[in-house]
Amino acid sequence: FRRLFVLYFLVIFSSTCYAQTKTIDQKVDSVLKLMTLDEKVGQMNQYNGDWDATGPITNDGDKQNQIRKGMVGSMLNVTGVEHTTQLQKIAMQSRLKIPLLFGQDIIHGYRTTFPIPLAEAASWDLKAIQLSARIAATEAAASGVHWTFAPMVDIARDSRWGRVMEGAGEDPYLGSLIATARVKGFQGKGFGNTDAIMACAKHFAAYGAAIGGRDYNAVDMSLNALWEIYLLPFKAAAEAGAATFMNSFNTLNGIPATGSAYLQRDILKGMWKFKGFIVSDWNSVGEMIPHGFAKDNYDASFKAITAGNDMDMESRSYIQNLVQLVKDGKVKIQLVDDAVRRILKKKFEMELFDDPFRFSNKEREQQQWNNKQNLEAEKLMAEKSIVLLKNENQLLPLSKTNVQGKTIALIGPFIKGIRDNLGFWSYTWPDDSARIISVWEGIKNKAGDNANLLYAKGCNINDTSHVSFSEAIETAMKADIVIMNVGEAADMSGEAKSRSNIHLPGVQEELIKAICATGKPVIVMINAGRPLIFNWTADHVPAIVYTWWLGTEAGAAIADVLFGDYNPSGKLPMSFPRAEGQIPIYYNHFSTGRPAKNDSDLNYVSSYIDLPNSPKFPFGYGLSYTTFSYSDIKLSLTRFRPGQDLRASVVVTNSGKYDGTETVQLYIRDMVGSVVRPVKELKGFQQIFLKAGESQTITFKITTEDLKFYNNDLKYIYEPGDFKLFIGTNSDDVREADFTLLK
Ligand code: BGC
Repeated sequence: FRRLFVLYFLVIFSSTCYAQTKTIDQKVDSVLKLMTLDEKVGQMNQYNGDWDATGPITNDGDKQNQIRKGMVGSMLNVTGVEHTTQLQKIAMQSRLKIPLLFGQDIIHGYRTTFPIPLAEAASWDLKAIQLSARIAATEAAASGVHWTFAPMVDIARDSRWGRVMEGAGEDPYLGSLIATARVKGFQGKGFGNTDAIMACAKHFAAYGAAIGGRDYNAVDMSLNALWEIYLLPFKAAAEAGAATFMNSFNTLNGIPATGSAYLQRDILKGMWKFKGFIVSDWNSVGEMIPHGFAKDNYDASFKAITAGNDMDMESRSYIQNLVQLVKDGKVKIQLVDDAVRRILKKKFEMELFDDPFRFSNKEREQQQWNNKQNLEAEKLMAEKSIVLLKNENQLLPLSKTNVQGKTIALIGPFIKGIRDNLGFWSYTWPDDSARIISVWEGIKNKAGDNANLLYAKGCNINDTSHVSFSEAIETAMKADIVIMNVGEAADMSGEAKSRSNIHLPGVQEELIKAICATGKPVIVMINAGRPLIFNWTADHVPAIVYTWWLGTEAGAAIADVLFGDYNPSGKLPMSFPRAEGQIPIYYNHFSTGRPAKNDSDLNYVSSYIDLPNSPKFPFGYGLSYTTFSYSDIKLSLTRFRPGQDLRASVVVTNSGKYDGTETVQLYIRDMVGSVVRPVKELKGFQQIFLKAGESQTITFKITTEDLKFYNNDLKYIYEPGDFKLFIGTNSDDVREADFTLLK
């Protein structure tokens, strides 16, 4: 009896030990073994919650039944503790009780709306960007969201494309660092923490290069451009541990990204050893039919899974065809198993099998609803995102004392706008409108009783003609100073919001001209989700501030900048064109065989005969209330060998009256390559704070890593030879030095 008892004890003991030490992979396998083919395909199926975040989620009773039958692995657009709990309870009625994943586009904040991603990119402040994503994740997670469809890391060189607002601009180096910061921000200290949500690097790949800047359009590009410009931020996101990737709507060189084995199997899951899962974009599996790549949904499912797409967002192709495809012997069960394993693995890592309701928490949700700290962080992020484009005669900053007893006219369709501070992809409107700070409110709070504020709308954003500016002109006439706020409405940039004309919409520039004609000093603030064209304003208005879409605290942040409580430090993450005809325009272009020596010389053959080649405002450009001067550029070596210590230094002096932050930028050109190299490539930057009068030596270390590029065999290599190095305040205003890399 004793022996039997000991044996029994050993069995129990070892099996509990085993259960405890089971790796996630073993746990995944043990669930997979229990699953029917239908249940497996169910895990690969994602449905929309019918956009209804406030009413009952998914009125579509059929979807709820399918969840109960284990036919759904994930839902999107279901948020809030109440709704996520409601659906998760239904999932717990399914045979295997596999928890649902709730995904949502948390693009720039959740309860607290942060600046649009392009604006945040203008901060060049990686820590602040990471914090913004961290806060968004914390707020969303408390509402039951497990997964954000962000960051969008698509490089964009075409500001007609509406989705430039959602990315980090035109540069692969800056874009890669920001991709990393955002992935880290969303995923926090790692899964298992209830404030860490899965990131999703999207849209894989090259979605930002849509021909003509028209959303969803085809993409045709060289493999060199793909690897060197468009894939780099994705690679960075994968290396930062992004849990998921989303493929994209576009075709790339004739193959829909969703059906591209080259992108998904060869590059992402193969070369980059990505262990997470790939979700399709919305119905992008089904869209392979109109693309002319798949005959029907059966064929589309076959092509998508074969190419490596694991989860089907809303096309219903998988749920309706994949079981049959396996039964017909067209799709090997191993492909299905691999996809399901990847999905289950994330559910285990997030500990949803232990507690499927662990994210949805009423108390946490309440705490996040009106969190002061988050709002403060948002305001700071907004301030860092603002770009000062022009400031003649130091018209800015205003100060409480210099507006004492003065009259300020606030003119323009955005001055009292609230919704328009948020931009595309924001959720708190309209139930949260009381928290959103308009420019009017921000300036009123700041100027207090010191100044007399007047207001005139002037025109609507989209008015095209027959507008009388007389009220606005009269208002301006009564004022000592005029602050105008013009730009694009929040729904003029974003998904499916491409524009062929990216000038200031409507008659807004006419309004600016009319107000300037009063002779009053005018400050113009421009709200937009993209680089806009406003040449007259740029040439004639003394002070211009680019204010993008800055989020919940927009008005307060803007007032801080206008009144000098924050000295602007933002730098443009995209080149601003002079005309749509220059697009695509980007700083890291190649040289022609007939390069213009003097950009403004229109006699050079590779110019437009009616426009210089240069942008209106270059990449990396942005002013401060103070001035920074650059001197003494030095190299530690002018000829160096791989492995040697090459350093470039420059002295930066705050030569103005205010303390301020400068982003010192390093660019490199490889003078002769086996494939031609861009005229400049960003390879480093440092953000420094200098007190007025202070100087600092800034040093960059340069290694052969910084000199690498993809050669014609797509090998990532460096080549010995001559290089030019540039350090400066923007991509156009730099000091140069030469060095040679020896063999
Ligand atoms: C967009 C994605 C987004 C998805 C879900 C699609 O139309 O392209 O970026 O994540 O919808 O909302």
